[in-house]
Amino acid sequence: MDTLQEATAADETLDPPNWAEVGALSHRIVDDAISYLKDVRDRPVWREMPAEVRSFFSAPLPRSPAPAADVYEDVASNVMPYPMGNIHPRFWSWYMGSSNFTGALGDFLAAIQGSNLGGGNHAAGLMDSQVVNWCKEMVGFPASASGTLVSGGSMANIIGLTVARNVKAGVDVRERGVGAIAKPLRYYASDQVHSCHRKGMEVLGLGNRALRRIPTDAGLCIDIAALQAAIAEDREAGFKPACVIGTAGTVNTGAVDDLQALARVAAEEDLWFHVDGCIGALIAIAPENRSLVAGIEQADSIALDPHKWLHAPFEAGCALVRDASSHRNTFAVTPEYLESAPRGLASGEWLHDYGLQTSRGFRALKIWMALKEHGVEKFGRLIDQNIAQAHYLTRLIEAEPALELMAPTTINIVSFRHRLDGASEERLKAFNTEIMLRLQEDGIAALSDTTVQGRHCLRVAIANHRTRRDDLDLLVREMLRLGREAAATSM
Ligand SMILES: *Cc1c(COP(=O)(O)O)cnc(C)c1O
Repeated sequence: MDTLQEATAADETLDPPNWAEVGALSHRIVDDAISYLKDVRDRPVWREMPAEVRSFFSAPLPRSPAPAADVYEDVASNVMPYPMGNIHPRFWSWYMGSSNFTGALGDFLAAIQGSNLGGGNHAAGLMDSQVVNWCKEMVGFPASASGTLVSGGSMANIIGLTVARNVKAGVDVRERGVGAIAKPLRYYASDQVHSCHRKGMEVLGLGNRALRRIPTDAGLCIDIAALQAAIAEDREAGFKPACVIGTAGTVNTGAVDDLQALARVAAEEDLWFHVDGCIGALIAIAPENRSLVAGIEQADSIALDPHKWLHAPFEAGCALVRDASSHRNTFAVTPEYLESAPRGLASGEWLHDYGLQTSRGFRALKIWMALKEHGVEKFGRLIDQNIAQAHYLTRLIEAEPALELMAPTTINIVSFRHRLDGASEERLKAFNTEIMLRLQEDGIAALSDTTVQGRHCLRVAIANHRTRRDDLDLLVREMLRLGREAAATSM
């Protein structure tokens, strides 16, 4: 008996030798985290990493232990001061949400509880399904629809495009592969479509050229007549038009395709109707703007992104499919080691049957906790608030002769640039890029840039629950100051 006990005592674990010490360190980390967010406005929106920090990340694989407190010190000094995300009130680059403290606690608790959302009979599995049900309700999908939480919008779109392929292929693609499809499938989207759809077409074996980019109108929305013409042309040429992707909020300018018109075309032409709602699907919960996305509820599948306008900590995306059996039939497999049992742990639903991952994280908890705390109506108001802020910035730009609006503002994305009298497009691009980089390097504001209708512009995307109108006043002031400086120097 003694020897048996000795052997047991010698077994190693990752648990701490002293839980009380871990408690003290954890409380300190939480206190630091609270200050970090409370004071975020006072820190620069971005800063370059000094050489010591860069070289810190080439340290070799650690072979021997270090106290957890030292490990945290390393993180506190080399990681926490250099974020690339939207926590700062003047971070408006690309497109992302701002996270939230309760959601962060959700991520922590999810890791502590350690559930694997591949499925099974447990509380986290029920919560995962509940959050998917809430997402259906937010966009007006029927309760009979299915869905799955994934890493983000790119994966959510790929899920929708995959179900579309399998439903429209006319052969059993899962068994026979895309080579067995009689007529090559064609997908359609506007020329503003997000790049993840290209990756999707490639990985589905359909190829990038099978996604036809349809021209857009003056508002950068898909041209419906051009879409219909392309479909007719493809049928004539022996292709099988299979799917139309509508974008509810393009990443370039926030343009929202006419989803009702697309639903009509899809019905007439027997196409799958997928909506990329990574930006705009959740406008359906915003009382002042929800009419912008009318028709989204008629989609066959929707991709939406809780880590954007629900401000969930990364990563959280959601794919919804109206016909649950098409969704399941696209991904379900039942290997012998994952059979269901009549009772016990393996008696719940296998959630991995709705996507590509087998092990799945407990993403639902961070979304669930923030929704419970604030209620969906507050998230809707915050979406309206960001859209109103973008229109406010648009008015500031229109009132300022040195600035020029470059695309209509529909939702929360503003495309604009600083003018430079008599300058070529090339010089304007260099000049505006310089202003954008100085705004970043001075830690004032993070903007990004893009090209709209062939012209370079700066872009402010306000998906941020910390932004205030005076932040936008400051942006305009600083842009004018930097514009004067850049014009006076060698630029
Ligand atoms: C953000 C975005 C995506 C991709 O979503 P991720 O969450 O970054 O993977 C796709 N489409 C649109 C319109 C987006 O804005």
